[in-house]
Amino acid sequence: MKSLVVANWKMNPQTPKEAEELFRSIEGKTQGVEGVEVVICPPAIYLPLMIQRNYCSLGGQNCFWLEKGAYTGEISSLMLKNSYCKYVIIGHSERRIDLAETDGVVNMKIITALKAGLNPIVCVGETAVEREEGRAIARVEDQIERAFEDISSEDFLQVGSVNIAYEPIWAIGTGNPCDSKTALEMRLVAVERIKSLFKEKVATFRFLYGGSANVENAESFIKEAGYDGLLVGGASLRPDEFNRIVKIVSSVRKI
Ligand code: PEP
Repeated sequence: MKSLVVANWKMNPQTPKEAEELFRSIEGKTQGVEGVEVVICPPAIYLPLMIQRNYCSLGGQNCFWLEKGAYTGEISSLMLKNSYCKYVIIGHSERRIDLAETDGVVNMKIITALKAGLNPIVCVGETAVEREEGRAIARVEDQIERAFEDISSEDFLQVGSVNIAYEPIWAIGTGNPCDSKTALEMRLVAVERIKSLFKEKVATFRFLYGGSANVENAESFIKEAGYDGLLVGGASLRPDEFNRIVKIVSSVRKI
């Protein structure tokens, strides 16, 4: 199984020209990088600019929870799939907080994504207050349980992988990453919860870390905390830095 390094561009950049340039400066550099699949998640409006690609995969940053219909402004899983996306990020904390996305909504989105054949990247993570109050583990366990509620083995038939991204909210975009010991503890919590939900192997589960990942700390999340990859926000807009992160993940995984 390859490691995954996911670039979440969020609402950047502001012009198609910049998006294309950013894409090209990452895509070309991933040629020959072993053991890592790089996934670019641009704003959906830029996806058509990225169809010509040889080395990267594409992902959506979000999808709607129903397959089709009168839902102004929304984008369906099938539209992403038909725009050459292989992945979709679901339940990012910015959507959970700023757009009031609940665990129930996350669950419905996972179901439609799986049906469309999109490999979900499901984000979970606690707030600073939840961590301070000793509720981080319970919060993440609960998010995972609710995310996969009533999802059966058949729902996974169309996809090769399901990806859980542990993203402590206090670490996202703050330059204050989680330490590798805590990251390891939280990965094991997530692994155990998935094992208890799915007794038989229904898909390949990968566990990613996200939250101020950069060239200085990338190695520790893979090597010391045992993650299968990274979800990268800010640094994914700086191609040189992002490409170095990809190389670090590749070299650590090969050992
Ligand atoms: C994210 O938004 O998923 C993220 C990890 O952002 P950053 O790397 O900027 O903390």
